[in-house]
Amino acid sequence: MSLKNIKTIGERRKFLEKETGVTLEHISVFPDNLKIASEKNCENMIGAVQIPLGVAGPIKIRGNYARGEFYLPLATHEAALVASVNRGCKAVTLSGGVNVVVENAGITRGPVFQTKSLKDSHEFKDWLEKNFPRLAEIAQSTSSHLSLLKQKISIIGKNVFVRFSFDTSDAMGMNMATYATDKIASYIRQEIKVECLSLAGNFDLDKKPSYLNFSEGRGKKVWAEAVLSPQTVREVLKTTPEKIHKLAVTKCYLGSIMSGSLGFNAHFTNMIAAIFLATGQDAAHVVEGSLGITATDMSGGSLYISIYLPDLPVGTIGGGTGLPAQSEALRLLGVYGGRDGKNSMKLAEIIGAGVLAGELSLLASLAQGSLAQAHRKLSGHIKYE
Ligand code: NAP
Repeated sequence: MSLKNIKTIGERRKFLEKETGVTLEHISVFPDNLKIASEKNCENMIGAVQIPLGVAGPIKIRGNYARGEFYLPLATHEAALVASVNRGCKAVTLSGGVNVVVENAGITRGPVFQTKSLKDSHEFKDWLEKNFPRLAEIAQSTSSHLSLLKQKISIIGKNVFVRFSFDTSDAMGMNMATYATDKIASYIRQEIKVECLSLAGNFDLDKKPSYLNFSEGRGKKVWAEAVLSPQTVREVLKTTPEKIHKLAVTKCYLGSIMSGSLGFNAHFTNMIAAIFLATGQDAAHVVEGSLGITATDMSGGSLYISIYLPDLPVGTIGGGTGLPAQSEALRLLGVYGGRDGKNSMKLAEIIGAGVLAGELSLLASLAQGSLAQAHRKLSGHIKYE
C-alpha cells in the first residue's frame, strides 16, 4: 500500500502507526476545520503539531497603515522570547511608540533563459527591454491583483538571468509571480524562440540569504525607529542608553563583519519566525527576514534605535493565511484578507515594530549581562548565582 492511495487524514495516520509502531496520539488532535489544509496547504496530511501561541504588547505604532496599539501574536516554543518582546513593547510604548515606514519592493521571480551565444544574449536583453510593456500586459492577464513593476537583467555567456518584480497586492505572491513568469516565458518562446531553462534561476532570490535581496529589497521593505529616555531605559530595561549603544555597534556591526553575516542585527528572525508561524506566512521566508540592520545612536542622553528590514515577503490572503487559527491571529491585528494591498503593508509595519521591540530588549539584556540568567529562569532550569 502506498500513501498516495490513502484518501483520508485518519486512515493515513493509522497506516503510519501500523508501519512504524509509533502511537500518534497528539498529532491526531486538531480542530475539525483544519481538515481543509489537506486540500490546499499540506499533501499527505496526518494531523497537526501544536505550537504554543503567546502575545506581546500592547505596542504603540505610528505608521502610514498601522496606527494605534497592537498585541503581537507570537507562535513559539522558545522560552524567554515572548517575555523579552513584551518588555521591548512596554519600553517603546512608554516612550511614545514606534515610527514605521513601509515600501512595496515587490515579490520577485528570476528565470534563467539560454541563448546560442553571448551576442544572442545581448540581443535578447535589448528585446526584453524594448518589449517590457508587452510583458507587463501578459503578466497582468494572469491575475486581477498582479502587475509587473520592473525587470533586472544579468548575462553570463549564453545564460540570461531576469529578475521580474511584481506587485501582488495583499498576497505574498510567490504562486502568482510564478504563474505570471510562466506565461511570460511561453510568450518569449513563441515570439523569439528563446528557451527558459528554469522559471526559478536563483536570481529571485527565493528562500536564501542574498546580498541582491538586501540591496534591491524583496516583498516589503520596512524601517522603524524609537527614542527612549535614560529613565525608561533604566526602569524598564535595567541598563543605560550608552551601554545598549556600545553593545549594538560592537555586536551588530563588528561581530557581523567578522562573521561575514548579512544580518547586521541582534535576532530579527526570532520575532519574524514567531509572527510568521502565527499568521500563516511561508516559514521558509524567515531566512530572508534575517537580512537587515539595527542602528543605534545617542541623542542628547536618550537612546535612538532603528531597524531596517529590506526583505520581508508577507501576505494577508493566500497561502496559509486562510487557515482557521492563522486567520484569527491576522484578525487580531486587523489585517485579515484583501484590502487593495493595504493589509499586507499594515502587517509589514506591525512586524517591523515588533522586530524593533525584540531587538531593543535583547540588546538591553546583553548589555546588562542578564541573558543567560533570564533564559535559565524562564525555561524552568535551576537558577544559578
Ligand atoms: P495564492 O493563494 O496562490 O494566490 C492568492 C490569490 O488570492 C490570487 O490568485 C488572487 O486571485 C486572490 N486575491 C484575492 N484578493 C486579493 C488581494 N487583495 N490581493 C492579492 N490577491 C488576492 O497566494 P500567493 O501569495 O501567490 O502564494 C503563496 C503561496 O506560495 C504560499 O503558500 C507559499 O508557500 C507558496 N510558494 C510558492 C512558490 C512557487 O514557486 N509557486 C514559491 C514559494 C512559495 P486572482 O489572481 O484571481 O486575482
